[in-house]
Amino acid sequence: MDSKTLRQYGHTIVDWIADYMDHIEEYPVLSQVEPGQIKDQLPSAPPAESEDMEAIFDDFRQILLPGMTHWQHPSFFAYFPANTSAPSILAEFLTAALGAQCMVWQTSPAATELEEVVMGWLRQMLGLPEGFSGVIQDTASTSTLCALLCARERATSFAINRQGFQDGTRQNLMVYTSEEAHSSVEKGVKIAGFGKDHLRLIPTGTDFAMIPEELEKAIETDRQDDHVPCCVVATVGTTSSTGMDPLRPIGEICGHYRLWLHVDAAMAGTAAILPEMRHLLDGIEYADSFVFNPHKWMFTNFDCSAYFCKDPKALTSTFEILPEYLKTGVDRRVKNFRDWGIPLGRRFRALKLWFVIRYFGIRGLQAKVRAHIQLAKEFESWIRKDPRFEVMAPVTINVVCFRYHPSNPTVTEEELEQINQGLMDELNRSGRMFLTHTKLKGQFTLRLCIGQTNTTQDHVRRAWQRLQASVADL
Ligand code: PLP
Repeated sequence: MDSKTLRQYGHTIVDWIADYMDHIEEYPVLSQVEPGQIKDQLPSAPPAESEDMEAIFDDFRQILLPGMTHWQHPSFFAYFPANTSAPSILAEFLTAALGAQCMVWQTSPAATELEEVVMGWLRQMLGLPEGFSGVIQDTASTSTLCALLCARERATSFAINRQGFQDGTRQNLMVYTSEEAHSSVEKGVKIAGFGKDHLRLIPTGTDFAMIPEELEKAIETDRQDDHVPCCVVATVGTTSSTGMDPLRPIGEICGHYRLWLHVDAAMAGTAAILPEMRHLLDGIEYADSFVFNPHKWMFTNFDCSAYFCKDPKALTSTFEILPEYLKTGVDRRVKNFRDWGIPLGRRFRALKLWFVIRYFGIRGLQAKVRAHIQLAKEFESWIRKDPRFEVMAPVTINVVCFRYHPSNPTVTEEELEQINQGLMDELNRSGRMFLTHTKLKGQFTLRLCIGQTNTTQDHVRRAWQRLQASVADL
């Protein structure tokens, strides 16, 4: 493609993006297509000859767009946000255009050094300890896997890296997390070779937070059984209900037993940019590693996961491999981020963070996050005032867990599940809003998660009105 055509389609696509953002509310939030509907419209064999950009872009709009769920729709209340913003999108254009592999310092010094700087900014913005060092990973799942691998190696003096799992005594290293932790912990435990049977799910209280006394009990029992406690993964903001594991008592236990403490704050970590929410990270100084995702709730498009660690040597000693073809003359004077994670190749992700933080400023970011938390509180207050509904979990930040629960004393749990599932399906089919569910202590629960970049009070109020209208027919 010559630069004239690039310019032409560049303008066309930027115009389309700007229109998309202006008119996003005209699209159904949840894609309304049936399984197979998109595939059936696409040729099964690739084109032998070059196709025209006009035709390609046209098919994007006509065929693919109906099959998109619009995560940037302000009435997207499902799962967790994956919010983006114009400065982030613009930075991604540049990252794509530069097309740099930022694996070692030399392959793009600006990428490495900007990453160090923006991770330092994030550290300050969240009030993390000064000694923490940061690196951008692709996802929180990868970050947690990195933490588990570091914990495994530290606990075994890097023996598994050297010898593998040949020695049977290494096979009983134990990992602890709460019963409400994200599935990425179990996945990481399996990939890192701990084995699922060596993952202990610690009970939570009525606030869905890990009970530290139960953690200590499990560690003691395992020690008596000749198991080797190795790592605790605490969650700040569980996926289902934003339960907040208490880091200080958990950290004290980890300190006492010399266990690696990894903190998964995938979505909720962003809340710590607010001084009034910093208490959620009380005790963070005990953590060996910490992850949160700017690609969830900090207006930075996927993927961008911020991983911090207390001792980068634990990370680099776990991952470092130095083939001749990657050696450079400055290795001793610079950071080579390829040793800070799993893949060798790395995108220039720091650029979008830099654009976002500079464009919004700390105050701009705080205003948006604070507004989301305020809207969740407001929605909670409406639910509490309506006797047909009940709140199912403490509203700690931006997620409200609730369900329709008529006062009929004979209604069973199964019936409640059916009614609430039906309610959710009807609302999602409308295309006007999208919310999802979970189960809390076995009870079917609806979740309204507020975190889309342009969600306002109007959108939340309309969601509430739609809910009320739906239950009026029940
Ligand atoms: N941890 C928590 C608490 C989450 O809520 C999520 C996503 O929902 C993840 C981890 C996984 O995040 P990622 O998609 O970045 O791996």
